[in-house]
Amino acid sequence: MTEPKHSLVRRTSWPDSASRPVVTPLQPSVVYASDSPDALDAQYEGRAQGYTYAREGHPNATVLARKIDGMEGVDGGLILGSGMAAITALMFGLLGKGDHVLGGNQLYGRSMRMLREELPRLGIDATLADPTDADSFAQSIRPETRLILLEVVSNPTLRVSDVTGIAKLAKDRGILLAIDNTFTTPRGFQPYDQGADIVLHSVTKLLGGHSDATLGYISARDPAHRKRIYDTAVTLGLTPSPFDCWLAERGLYSFELRYDRAEQNARTLADAFAETPGVKRVLYPTRPDHPDHNRAAALLGERGGNMVSFEIEGGRDATNALVQAAPNIAFAPTLGDIGTTLSHPASSSHRALSSDERAELGMSEGFFRVSVGVEDVDLLVAEFRAAIAAATGT
Ligand SMILES: *Cc1c(COP(=O)(O)O)cnc(C)c1O
Repeated sequence: MTEPKHSLVRRTSWPDSASRPVVTPLQPSVVYASDSPDALDAQYEGRAQGYTYAREGHPNATVLARKIDGMEGVDGGLILGSGMAAITALMFGLLGKGDHVLGGNQLYGRSMRMLREELPRLGIDATLADPTDADSFAQSIRPETRLILLEVVSNPTLRVSDVTGIAKLAKDRGILLAIDNTFTTPRGFQPYDQGADIVLHSVTKLLGGHSDATLGYISARDPAHRKRIYDTAVTLGLTPSPFDCWLAERGLYSFELRYDRAEQNARTLADAFAETPGVKRVLYPTRPDHPDHNRAAALLGERGGNMVSFEIEGGRDATNALVQAAPNIAFAPTLGDIGTTLSHPASSSHRALSSDERAELGMSEGFFRVSVGVEDVDLLVAEFRAAIAAATGT
């Protein structure tokens, strides 16, 4: 049977195969065709499962969401177009005019901006408080406080939040607790076991793990919150691309191996920094010299994560020299890549602050943050030692 030429625009059916693909298929279709209006009714009314339009959901997002749900121990999580899309869905989904939100004062820069600048424009007030001190949160609570947003380990000073104290406070006062688990990941920390109502991630970072997909994740314990967040996200158009979801799901196959290796490397590298001439200070949550060591031990056990910060003597000349003497370590303001990356808060994430403000937060010009990857750790130690020596003349 020969088909007329104009049928080229018609989609052909997929070839039959008695065997199945091993790899998750990539489904880029934006629209889904139904058998009949009755079939569509059944779908919209929840009597039949299916997709209609990709902004409302697609299989690659579902597959990825179910995997992260499994790690976080929850149902019904949602994948969004970025970590910030997850923060947006949270704020716009659950808050309204007149509400007040409380956040940690060392939140991710854009989250902080959301609280300080975007929400107030819409009549939602925000206060930032010290997350290592539950009392400072208690003092900032108002009758209209509806939500607390917390990160477990802060960027880039790696302070450990008093999650236990703040979760108790939130519960006692009937305030929702949302935890951004990006740094700690579900392998390092289980927010729902510690009283969180909502968990979110930048999947762009450790979960995706290869710096090739920008995505976010959000889930909630209460199905009514899930529905609010879902409807808001779909209406605001915070939708992820199927290809990005496909890439991130592929990244997850190796997540546990990557995380464990990177964490072990980070611990070794932190100990090596402490012994390296020219290094003034090392920050790693499970080291005994970390300011929140006891809390880290209680909350995280041995799971200190893959992030290490350190400080060298000297000004911009020394920090330029360090970066240039480590050409194989990407100097890039992100984290969670399979390879080690180095960032310098004074010239990137915290450049908007004055040097005095940075000094108060413990980030001088010589302060660096390392997102440790899975490389051979001896190589990493040697590269960093050489770079620090070049920078500090030691
Ligand atoms: C990167 C990051 C975000 C934002 O995620 P994007 O995917 O870049 O939008 C939010 N929170 C934390 C802790 C992050 O590191």
